[in-house]
Amino acid sequence: MTTETTADPEIRRIRHLIGGGRSEPVTGETFETRDPHDNSLLGTVARGTAEDATRAIEAARAAFDDGPWPRMTPKERQKILHAVADNVESHLEELAMLETRDSGKIITQARHADIPRTAYNLRFFADYAAMAGNEAYPDGDLLSYTLYPPAGVVSAISPWNAPLMLASWKLAPALAFGNTAILKPAPQTPLTASRFGELALEAGLPEGVLNIVHGFGGDEVAGPLTTDPRVDRITFTGSTATGVRILRAAAPNLTPVSAELGGKSANIVFDDADLDVAVPESIRGIFAGNGQMCFAGSRLFVQRGILPEFLARFTAAAEEIVVGDPKDPATTLGPLIEQRHLDKVGGYVELARDEGGTVVSGGHRIREPGLAEGFYYAPTVISGLGNDSRTAQEEIFGPVETVIGFDTEEEALRLANANPYGLAGLLFTTDLDRAHRMVSRWKAGTVWVNCYLVRDLRLPFGGEGRSGIGREGGQYSREFFTEPRAVTLRIRPGR
Ligand code: NAD
Repeated sequence: MTTETTADPEIRRIRHLIGGGRSEPVTGETFETRDPHDNSLLGTVARGTAEDATRAIEAARAAFDDGPWPRMTPKERQKILHAVADNVESHLEELAMLETRDSGKIITQARHADIPRTAYNLRFFADYAAMAGNEAYPDGDLLSYTLYPPAGVVSAISPWNAPLMLASWKLAPALAFGNTAILKPAPQTPLTASRFGELALEAGLPEGVLNIVHGFGGDEVAGPLTTDPRVDRITFTGSTATGVRILRAAAPNLTPVSAELGGKSANIVFDDADLDVAVPESIRGIFAGNGQMCFAGSRLFVQRGILPEFLARFTAAAEEIVVGDPKDPATTLGPLIEQRHLDKVGGYVELARDEGGTVVSGGHRIREPGLAEGFYYAPTVISGLGNDSRTAQEEIFGPVETVIGFDTEEEALRLANANPYGLAGLLFTTDLDRAHRMVSRWKAGTVWVNCYLVRDLRLPFGGEGRSGIGREGGQYSREFFTEPRAVTLRIRPGR
């Protein structure tokens, strides 16, 4: 068990989970996690150091080297991971509310997307690992085939914007393919990870298979997770700057890193698009997740013939967004994660004004009664900037859309690709030929045509350029979380 309530049942005391038991930080130090809605205290959290991380690595190593997990059949692991998913589903409401309070994510999204998807991640990879095919090549007296033994100990480092969903996107394949893991959740959002650790143990996950350490980046708890030679894989989701640090840290041991990083994705709307689809999907494309989505289509390119109409409809829809307490199901945009991030987002809107942009809507912090203590920022639409402005080039990670006109297909593609990131793209057109032409030349790990955020987990997930290295999902996760081994066997001829 890692979570314990204090005298005030609303305030949680979060500790590490190491080797199946709750673990105090070696230094005894803690930090606070707060509710972005009103800055109230939600919990005090073990502030891990390198020593805590090393203990977690030792526990994961022992569970891998001597424990039952890697030796189970995929079917045996499948059964346990489904039991964990069942336990997540039977605590859906509790987990959704924890996520909403800790991250500011709106409750409808936590309840209908993040937590159900957490359970689905577990089920999908449990089934995939049990059912994936293995290629075998008989050739005369030779039989060649591939084995996929687990890689070993996995460090999983996750961000705050989709805390449990992204943690489970890493843990589910790592565990399903027989590895043991250490999860380090973002310090802003430790609550659901901690509760998940308890639910997994309750459901029968053997001790030491999943360890959780809390705290901060490279100089603190995360250090050994990226430098210890006993770690076999590092799966990281977060900012590009941190990704670069992790790749450097992992290089001396040649530890493979999967890095899912930032984005500044293009959303392209052609004049033949169905605006009844393009407008609401483009609204989701930037404002879902309170504007804090890696995928966000934060550079919105609209063909000039429809630019005035599109901008009017888009702005009207942005002004209908209900900003408020994320616990209220009527709310459609909650607060940003913390004061520092609010300052960053506000700073970018100031920059947009300095760069000559026009703030068509929003562009200010929200200080209405009931929201004044929280980190609320109005849905913001900016026009009048070029694609080469800093506002249009850098990841803001907030509810801020930059709208830019274009004339031709070629120009749209050039603008989309004129950015160092390459995570995603959104495209709205009813011309199928154009859609095919565009997606084949688009520098992006994922492209959605006339839709947004729907995903088949068998497809590769990841980014090009500064959006990351490697792909996860389906067979891509199997390749990353295993050590594929070529086996060639000579069969003796019959006598
Ligand atoms: P971040 O990089 O600040 O932190 C992510 C995690 O890394 C946290 O757990 C943090 O404590 C840890 N960390 C920080 N420094 C570290 C170090 N030196 N060594 C090891 N770990 C370290 O990112 P964030 O602010 O939590 O998340 C927002 C970013 O994540 C955005 O850039 C967003 O685009 C990106 N993101 C990407 C994806 C994707 O799939 N590509 C998904 C979600 C978020």
